[in-house]
Amino acid sequence: MLSTDKAFSFEFFPTKTDAGHEKLLQVARQLAVHNPAFFSCTYGAGGSTRDRTLDTVLQLEREVHVPAAPHLSCVGDSKAELRDLLATYRNAGIKRIVALRGDLPSGMGMASSELRHANDLVEFIRTETGDHFHIEVAAYPEMHPQARNFEEDLANFARKAKAGADSAITQYFFNAESYFYFVERVQKLGVDIPIVPGIMPITNYSKLARFSEACGAEIPRWIRKQLEAYHDDAASIQAFGEEVITRMCEQLLKGGAPGLHFYTLNQAQASLAVWQNLGLSR
Ligand code: FAD
Repeated sequence: MLSTDKAFSFEFFPTKTDAGHEKLLQVARQLAVHNPAFFSCTYGAGGSTRDRTLDTVLQLEREVHVPAAPHLSCVGDSKAELRDLLATYRNAGIKRIVALRGDLPSGMGMASSELRHANDLVEFIRTETGDHFHIEVAAYPEMHPQARNFEEDLANFARKAKAGADSAITQYFFNAESYFYFVERVQKLGVDIPIVPGIMPITNYSKLARFSEACGAEIPRWIRKQLEAYHDDAASIQAFGEEVITRMCEQLLKGGAPGLHFYTLNQAQASLAVWQNLGLSR
């Protein structure tokens, strides 16, 4: 069994319907049994999920009894809007925030954005609320898709740590070496905050391929070819995905990763299967 002195967390997205929301809470209750460090809930850049993200984190804390962290992005929101939201979270007893730049939907202008990069948002949160929040930021072991080059992206990550981030969660990847290399390189820049790998369970190949293309996560050929060969055989995709992700998580934890953050996509089964394979149930 692997050591459990590490932080494990699960991410959700706010749903549009009451039925989806009920299911999210049900999934959260299933995961809560395993005593995660926190749940997080994404935020639609430009404020499109402002109320739903808020409602979701409050319910996760009050009804599921797990500390919940809202994601907060700065593009498309004004400083006044961000200030209000920070005050609401603070007054509600929220202690952790995932601070991001965000990606505006195409066609939505940057006009209302006063903060352009995540390091500006981290600085803003610290100025407005001091040390109240534990601030998480995003990290990209395979480089952010819009970065000009790897070196600049590393330096931009270091800016977020210097602005006051406490820890980071990575974009998902399927190549553990990219994570270890990234951590080593940012440590050489003097960054010593914990960097937790973001883990994407493999359940649906076509969706994963589309999403990975957009966010710059590489699906290695040996994984891609096997998934393609399974076509619509959901059970084989699931079994293979579970094995691949479990092995990678073992490698990450044994190599010193300080925890794992699961992108659940509001489903319990795939994350729980990996969790149980790792022997993490408490
Ligand atoms: P930044 O750190 O600002 O980086 C964005 C780009 O700008 C990079 O290429 C970087 O190199 C460059 N850059 C950074 N700082 C500077 C600077 N000072 N000067 C010049 N260039 C700079 N998106 C959502 O909309 N909602 C969510 O809830 C959400 N949750 C996420 C959770 C995690 C764990 C991760 C990894 C991503 C999440 N995203 C979310 C996606 C994220 O918003 C996008 O990847 C976005 O494109 C970048 O956000 P960032 O915070 O990493 O930006």
